[in-house]
Amino acid sequence: MSFDKVAIIGLGLLGGSIGLATARYLPGVVTTGYDADPAVRARAAELGLAGTICASAADAVTDADLVILCVPVGAMGDAAIEIAGALRPGCVISDVGSSKQSVLAALNKALPGTTIIPAHPVAGTEHSGPDAGFASLFHSRWCIITPPEGTDSALVDALSAFWSALGAKVDVMSPRHHDLVLAVTSHLPHLIAYTIVGTASDLEEVTRSEVIKYSAGGFRDFTRIAASDPTMWRDVFLNNKEAVLQMLQRFTEDLTALQRAIRVGDGDTLFDHFTRTRAIRRSIIDEGQDDARPDFGRGDHED
Ligand code: NAP
Repeated sequence: MSFDKVAIIGLGLLGGSIGLATARYLPGVVTTGYDADPAVRARAAELGLAGTICASAADAVTDADLVILCVPVGAMGDAAIEIAGALRPGCVISDVGSSKQSVLAALNKALPGTTIIPAHPVAGTEHSGPDAGFASLFHSRWCIITPPEGTDSALVDALSAFWSALGAKVDVMSPRHHDLVLAVTSHLPHLIAYTIVGTASDLEEVTRSEVIKYSAGGFRDFTRIAASDPTMWRDVFLNNKEAVLQMLQRFTEDLTALQRAIRVGDGDTLFDHFTRTRAIRRSIIDEGQDDARPDFGRGDHED
């Protein structure tokens, strides 16, 4: 089976990109879209982010066989309540939220008796809003599908096929495991970036203009992540609290070990650690998850 009518709720970076990608790679699929912000709806219509931009969430989902909620994770419950009662029988509800256990709980509560198959495309940028969307966002990126136990496998396959058609590679895991994996690969790095950029901007002996001037030393790579949407990331930390705190505890212990190595002059520990981390960078490049060129291909090092 496949989905013929897809409703997208929330027309920012993720929702807009799904609409554009569906139009490009699944031209036979009819899309409808809705966003709570009237200005976003108007812009989405201009940009053609969905075939029809509707004036209400209920209108957008009426005929849909797949609804994808693309709102901040803290808004998933409210977005689901708005469509309850307007769904056609058999409609599958999915989402793109960055945490999965809390989203599944919120959707189950708002839409009892509905088929809910959460998903998380691990693809994004630091930009948000309708103008940030683009059709190739999901190319060669992983989309993690987290079906609750007992979900009809044919529906999971149909959702996998949808994401594959948009260019994504699909993995299936439990919501709990997803939250642990993403806590270390995404949520903790964002927390570290938000912290270090805040620390640098609060320093007294090094001026802010010096921090900006010499940022190519590494700082600017953190600033890209720390420029990510505040609403989205506030919600991610509040909704994946336990896994983030667990990983943060581990991180703090490891940081203390490196701090000690620096203090006591233990160069071997530092060297061994940095050798291990360099190998991880190589694996990421080998798997095509980043640009192998120096400095992420920015070109500063080219002759
Ligand atoms: P975004 O660009 O800010 O778009 C979200 C849109 O949803 C906004 O226009 C927002 O309007 C609207 N909205 C909020 N509540 C709503 C509701 N109840 N009904 C309808 N629309 C509503 O955010 P995004 O980056 O696309 O992120 C969307 C989701 O994708 C989040 O759950 C996030 O965790 C996940 N995600 C993001 C990334 C990333 O890199 N950005 C990657 C993977 C997954 P207002 O601005 O007026 O609230």
